[in-house]
Amino acid sequence: MDKRTKIIATISDKRCEVEFIRSLYEAGMNAVRINTAHVTTRSAATIVENVRRVSEKIAIIIDTKGPEIRLTGMAAGFESGIPIEKGQLVRMKGTAEDRPSSDQTIYLNDPTIYDAVPTGSIILIDDGELELQVVDKTDDELVCEVHNGGVIKPRKSVNIPGVPIDLPSVTDKDHEFINWAIDMDIDFIAHSFVRKKEDVLAVKELIKRRNSSIKIISKIENKEGVDNIDEILDETYGIMVARGDLGVEIPAEQIPVAQRLLVSKCIESKKPVIIATQMLHTMITHPRPTRAEISDVANAIYQRVDAVMLSGETANGQYPVEAVKTMARVAREIEKDTAQNSPNYDMNLVRINNEITAQLSRSAVRACINLPIRAIIIDTLSGRTGRYLAAFRGEKPVYAVCYRKSVMRQLGISYGIHAMYREPTINHESFLLGVLYYLEDRKWLCKEDMIVVIGGSFGAAKGASFLEIGNVLNLEHKALNAQNL
Ligand code: PEP
Repeated sequence: MDKRTKIIATISDKRCEVEFIRSLYEAGMNAVRINTAHVTTRSAATIVENVRRVSEKIAIIIDTKGPEIRLTGMAAGFESGIPIEKGQLVRMKGTAEDRPSSDQTIYLNDPTIYDAVPTGSIILIDDGELELQVVDKTDDELVCEVHNGGVIKPRKSVNIPGVPIDLPSVTDKDHEFINWAIDMDIDFIAHSFVRKKEDVLAVKELIKRRNSSIKIISKIENKEGVDNIDEILDETYGIMVARGDLGVEIPAEQIPVAQRLLVSKCIESKKPVIIATQMLHTMITHPRPTRAEISDVANAIYQRVDAVMLSGETANGQYPVEAVKTMARVAREIEKDTAQNSPNYDMNLVRINNEITAQLSRSAVRACINLPIRAIIIDTLSGRTGRYLAAFRGEKPVYAVCYRKSVMRQLGISYGIHAMYREPTINHESFLLGVLYYLEDRKWLCKEDMIVVIGGSFGAAKGASFLEIGNVLNLEHKALNAQNL
């Protein structure tokens, strides 16, 4: 309850006991990410089941593989890999048939590679561990010179920075996981390697066919994705800045630039933004993070991102609970600093786009700066009012009453939103009394506190239409009187 930045932890099927997940939740985790690269639908189901046993508030994110270039498997005799040395020439070729690689030809899973990759391109294998350069193209093969040697291992990832690739947006495995996620009532699909709006639309089409309300988070992990961010934002629910692959696809010094751009684009568009990868990498093996890692987390929080994410730190690291606690402590400290030293966040960044809900959200957050307000209270059918309030990055808690559990969980990754589920009420007064009594019971509010309430006068599905400011006592009296009329 005491931090506004949300924490996402990656959980693996190798360590997903209820008690473990509970300890991460109690340390400050708000959402769980499951990486489909490392699980089957069956083992992922165990993670989902255990998360749900801890709390129905924890959002679950399924991370697909997406259109990723990979090496094929190895031919007989090369099972443990192919050693390559600096200066050596290696031949590479695309295949649609998953032909096995050998020291004669290394195969990639993209059959269009010969036409797409110009001479001079850099090819990075295994997150950039091995580097080759295309020096010639002959007989349907790319002739590549090794810059950094090592061992080429089967099915490793391949990045070709700056070269648009032509793989289908959704792989067969992604199909399987997306359908499974819909069946399991999962909250989010984090789709990998989103390069353009068509990648989002392909996943949306699948979701629409199944009539599901699962939401898409587009993982931006190459230059094309960064360049096409505007059209991607028009179609996606949120963005993940996937710095692992991004750091291979673009020069490392450009990652902070891309991060700042993507964060501000998301805030402008009122869409959630997650910063991912190597935030506390040292904590995979050490109990204490480096100063640089703490600064990286702090920097993201100063940029007012919605959520920060842990990967190996919680999936297989030695100090998972400490990593979540560390992030939560940094969040509290930096949020305290921004509240004291730069409370007036530039709300002009956020686009109103002629939307009443956006204008009311802006006015509510603005009121919290000018008046001694304790909290903002809303009810939200689709989650939109919650997301819009989050976009203005206010300091005061937003208590969001949701009438669907999935909406409550989806708001779990939005900045400063404390979402709760309640049965739908017959009118605004009953909603308000219910939530105020609930918050007073927990001592989160008292009768004298000034609050802002955003409500709608034209029916549940018609959206927000008014904003009211007063103390809890007066608002309760007014609601009780209206009920007795
Ligand atoms: C990343 O590349 O930063 C990322 C989050 O994706 P994955 O963990 O699937 O590589």
